[in-house]
Amino acid sequence: MPAQNLRFDTRILHGPGHEKDVHNSIRFPIYAGVAFGFESAQDMEDAFLHRKPSHAYSRITNPSVQLFEQTLTQLENGLGAIALSSGMAAITNALLALLNTGDTIIASKYLFGNTRSLLEETFKGFGIQSKLVDVNNEKELENAIDEHSRVIFCETITNPQMNVSDCSLISKVAKKHNLIFVVDNTVTTPYLFNAKEHGINVVLHSTTKYISGGATSVGGAIVDLGNYDWTLIPALKKYHNHTRFAFLSRLRKEVYRNFGSCMSPQAAYLQTLGLETLSLRISKSCDNALFIAQCLEKNTKIKSVNYPGLESSDFYHLARAQFNNIEGKGFAPGGVISFELGNRDEAFNFINHLHLVKRATNINDNKSLIIHPASTIFSDFSSKDKKEMGVTDNLVRLSVGIEDVKDLMDDIDQALVRA
Ligand code: PLP
Repeated sequence: MPAQNLRFDTRILHGPGHEKDVHNSIRFPIYAGVAFGFESAQDMEDAFLHRKPSHAYSRITNPSVQLFEQTLTQLENGLGAIALSSGMAAITNALLALLNTGDTIIASKYLFGNTRSLLEETFKGFGIQSKLVDVNNEKELENAIDEHSRVIFCETITNPQMNVSDCSLISKVAKKHNLIFVVDNTVTTPYLFNAKEHGINVVLHSTTKYISGGATSVGGAIVDLGNYDWTLIPALKKYHNHTRFAFLSRLRKEVYRNFGSCMSPQAAYLQTLGLETLSLRISKSCDNALFIAQCLEKNTKIKSVNYPGLESSDFYHLARAQFNNIEGKGFAPGGVISFELGNRDEAFNFINHLHLVKRATNINDNKSLIIHPASTIFSDFSSKDKKEMGVTDNLVRLSVGIEDVKDLMDDIDQALVRA
């Protein structure tokens, strides 16, 4: 049966690439080596000129990594994907392939801290400026756009604020100005969010999170959804004759190749294995998150709860409209919640008294993890920036795992009593 006729859960396991091992190994092996041999000088030339599909050197392509790329491509319904060493590598490589010095990025002011630092500090040194706005505010978005703008960038759900980006609105504005709409789909994944249907052009992932299967390895991915006219982009001028493949070609043949931020075959093996159980894990984590958010909302020790799955959330209707990719399974806005206690001391006491929930800086692991964002991930930011981003001193972020939710609630309840 052609892969495009299979449903999501089946495509993860049986999509293109899965049938190809020469020894018929059911689990695709780790091709750990670096170099691949050729029969003749002619074969080598054909490989280097991309006349025949083949692998030459693992920094550029590798069979184990390619299987992971092919699986992600079909889950996102894209044109092609490139797997990288981390989510940050995916963001950096994608943007540097699309931009020249003097170009600007219009980005959400609510971003993962390292991404914000990349845009505001690192890129500035290369003459690439970012304007940070509320991307859900059409007027603010329009006002930020000028002749130097090339890209609009946001995350599907911001963290720790848990704001939902209005992707249909942003895509409408991006289309009007011929801007490339790039979205970080880490926390929703293609299981919850159909990026192509919402007008996104390029999807980025930290595959370290849900996709890896439980924080097994660090990884990232860039997926071109094949719906942007790359001849409009000056940074891709040399590749305009590659037509639909111009962006992927510049990455593979230049930016990704030269930066050397490839995914290792060992990580690709773990990530492909993790991806196979994505639906099961993400469903359980989202169900647990909703239950916990509803309990927290009723607890008098809690000042506020941010979770777009709550009917009281300002983002509930937007979340319902966007995060419902899986037919017949309703909607689910990810497994991360944030909430405010009375003050910083209460937040620290609560965190210190948890037994089951681990104190750790990651999200979308199988295990539930807790952090105080203001004193950790956002500690480099000024008080003014933190205030503007809603990263308050009494805020904690809980990434909900796939444990039995009653055990999680018992742990949370006892820690709240002691907070
Ligand atoms: N994007 C989001 C939304 C993240 O939460 C993170 C990391 O927490 C990243 C990107 C960076 O990913 P990585 O740690 O794999 O580089």
